[in-house]
Formats: sequence, structure tokens, C-alpha cells
Amino acid sequence: MDSVRRVVHTLMDNVNQSNTIRICVPILSKQIVLSPILGAKKLCIGTYDILTQESCPCPGKALIGLSNKSNCDNCYKKTGFNPAFCGKGPNYISKKQEQYNAMPHYVYLAHFGQNTIKVGTAYHKRLIGRLTEQGARAALIVKKCKNAYEAYTLEQDICKRSGITDRIYTSRKITLLRSKFDSESAQKELLACNDLKDHNDLLDLNTYYFLTKEHAIPNNFTEMTTLGSEIECKIKAMVGKALILEYNGNYKLISVDKLMGKTNVIIK
Ligand SMILES: [Zn+2]
Repeated sequence: MDSVRRVVHTLMDNVNQSNTIRICVPILSKQIVLSPILGAKKLCIGTYDILTQESCPCPGKALIGLSNKSNCDNCYKKTGFNPAFCGKGPNYISKKQEQYNAMPHYVYLAHFGQNTIKVGTAYHKRLIGRLTEQGARAALIVKKCKNAYEAYTLEQDICKRSGITDRIYTSRKITLLRSKFDSESAQKELLACNDLKDHNDLLDLNTYYFLTKEHAIPNNFTEMTTLGSEIECKIKAMVGKALILEYNGNYKLISVDKLMGKTNVIIK
């Protein structure tokens, strides 16, 4: 489990110098200006070391097409991780991923609100990071497995045996953000569907997303699918990839995927 409790932050690259500098910026309640980088390209988001969890900016400041890709070919190869092969044997994966898969992995149940629960696995040093990047509001650790293969087998077994999904769609997560999250009910629902009883470690993840104690999101937000022009706004919350902004007295939700690699950010 992660030993350090972090506040919501994003990693940002200062690309205006010869060597790009990556900084970690706490963003909640900050007044920021977001503006789209114009053109049909976006910047590579760099590399990520799956074992040490260190990330580095792209050394070549590579531009990539506006596709689903986030990395240039060099950074993708250097990262050496393909989540689609998480449960597969060594013939399918890089050396680094083989080492990663041999390390302990957690199996968890994650709660997103209103009895919406998924089962998943997480590298032992990245449990909180994995849960919060998905926007889980509470979680229960089912088991710490000796490696990724054991965790994957248990995850799939829980899917089949209990009918718990291993995927929650983004649209469902956004719908759930409009309702108040009831921590007490969530904890009961998580405990009720864990039939292993090995671990009953419950995690409340709300403090990772909000600065206020209410842990509430204004439910009248509207969704932005793209950042069309420059806006000055205040960050109210970030739940998983959903960034909730206050802009001109209204609340907007935009996915960080829509901003990554193609947005200039100025923090006031
Ligand atoms: Zn790159």
C-alpha cells in the first residue's frame, strides 16, 4: 500500500527550456488558465518506470498525431508496459513487465457509488494511485497476492463467481458523480460482497479528490468534450480523470485525457 498520503496533483512539463522540466503541482482551488495548443499535433507525455513509478518528460519533445496514443514510439518502448497483457505469461511481455508481474499485487474491490463495484488488481506499491486514477470513492482489499498472475486469476474468479465486473464505463462514473456519495453504505456493500474474508481493510478515498470536508461535487455540472478556447477557471475537484472546474459561475467537467499533451497551463 502507498505509504504517503498525497493531495490531488498533476504532473506538468515546462517545455520552454532546452531540457524539459517536469513538476508536480497541487491544483485544487487554484486559479488557472487553460488554453489549447493549436494544430493537429500533441506533445508526447514521456516515459513511466513501472517498477520505480518515476516518470520523465519526453527527451525529444516529440509531437504525435491527435490519435489515442499518448507517447512517441521511443517513450512507449522505454516504458515497456502494455496493460492488456497484465495477466499473460512471460512470452507476451517485456523484461521489465516480467519483473513487475513477479512482484506482489493486490486484488481489491472498488466502489464508485450506488452499489457500483468493480474488482481489480494493483501493483503493491501503487494501490492508492491505481484506485484514485480510476476515481474509486472507497475500496476493500481482498488479498495481497504473491504476483500479478495469482492476482489476475483471483480477479477473474471473483468476476465469474460473484458477477462483479472488472470494468466501469466512464459515462457511468460521471452519472454517479452527480449523486451524493454515502461512505457508510459503500463500506457495507463492499464487505457484503467479499466472500474471501482474508482481508477486510477498507479505504476511504474521498480525501484524495476534494479539499472540503463535504466531499461533494456540484451536481449541476455540464460536460466539456474539448477545450475549444482559452478559459480561466478554478479547480474544484479531481475524481479519477474527471476534472471539475468552476468557470464563469458554472461548473464544468472535462476529462484530463482531453487536455493531456495539448494544453498550455498557467497557474495564477
Ligand atoms: Zn516521447
